[in-house]
Amino acid sequence: MGTFNIANIREDFPILKRTVNGKPLVYFDNGATTQKPKQVIDAIVAYYADMNSNVHRGVHYLSQISTDAFEITRRKVQTFINARHEHEVIITKGTTESINIIATCYGRPFIGEGDEIIISAMEHHSNIVPWQMLCDEKGCVLRVIPMKENGELDIEAYRALFSERTKLVSFTYVSNALGTINPVKEMIDIAHTHEVPVLIDAAQAIQHMKVDVQALDVDFLAFSGHKMYGPTGVGVLYGKEELLNKMPPYQGGGDMIKEVTFAKTTYNELPFKFEAGTPNIEAGICLAHAIEYIETIGVEAIKAYEDELLAYATTQLAKIDGIRFIGTAEHKSSVISFVVDGIHPYDIGVILDKLGIAVRTGHHCAQPVMEQFAIPGTVRVSLAMYNTKEEVDTLIAGLERALGMLK
Ligand code: PMP
Repeated sequence: MGTFNIANIREDFPILKRTVNGKPLVYFDNGATTQKPKQVIDAIVAYYADMNSNVHRGVHYLSQISTDAFEITRRKVQTFINARHEHEVIITKGTTESINIIATCYGRPFIGEGDEIIISAMEHHSNIVPWQMLCDEKGCVLRVIPMKENGELDIEAYRALFSERTKLVSFTYVSNALGTINPVKEMIDIAHTHEVPVLIDAAQAIQHMKVDVQALDVDFLAFSGHKMYGPTGVGVLYGKEELLNKMPPYQGGGDMIKEVTFAKTTYNELPFKFEAGTPNIEAGICLAHAIEYIETIGVEAIKAYEDELLAYATTQLAKIDGIRFIGTAEHKSSVISFVVDGIHPYDIGVILDKLGIAVRTGHHCAQPVMEQFAIPGTVRVSLAMYNTKEEVDTLIAGLERALGMLK
């Protein structure tokens, strides 16, 4: 596993030292949210202890240093995802808000009655519902890329979905329910041959692999800070400058204006046009520390380690009698979903919790995926860079115990 030092990494995450139900915590719910390293926790405390002040307003010292720190995050994100301009990085509350901004500010003006939006069968609810709301309002139509039995999207069917009415494509980079990595570049290129812009939900990709918006030539990209070792309440919307410029603002309020009179208001420039009101300043500032943490370890090293751990966990889980994997795509990242026929996932989750092991059970905000596989939900094991083979072994022992009790 190269120079990746797992002992040092685990030292950085204080929560990994705690116990749950008298057992050492084994945290395998990283798809829901990741734990935070002390570098991020310390930065949160330092912000409130030392710097707390509103941003983009005051001439006074504290306001200037907090504004500078907030803007450092924007530049960190810019280089992290290789955006051409820093004003193409909009700081939002998270993936959900980022997608809603596009549904509202791109959807309302540029997608009309009878127009079509393509999403995929494996989307998180946050990449389904905003489009349905737009369809209800505007009379546009959702087209859904079908998914094969192994949890891969059907790319030939995707090609066939395009028509002259297709106005936008939006799909996930990595499935939070199945772990499938979609062929994002190929799918973006297909959309671009039809001159249709693409939004990528990178909520489950950004913390596991290199995401380069220029190499992908993606039009919009969304992700959340809390799933990449950063604080909750902050996320990113990347958009190409020319698209963001032609979109109207999202919300009205402070910061997003140039001049307000009762007769007429003029709007601020990018990125502030989309950042009305006081942002989550602490989270915004501390996202930079999370990115710095990832960069210090190295995205490639993280990917190599997690891929090896994913392969190990998959092999070990496959040895357990009765386990059926949901999602067996060739290219996967960090997520294993499974069911045991005859046993409800929830019951497995409750017993594992008693053993200090945190997994997610249920539909993972992807009910259409569960419907396709005709199951109520899965047990989801989702990995982060601080997980270990020993933890996988603890999970396997716990599962064997749980299944022994439940069968
Ligand atoms: N998309 C995907 C693929 C996700 O996994 C999640 C979070 N589970 C979201 C969107 C929504 O992210 P958030 O709740 O942080 O806005």
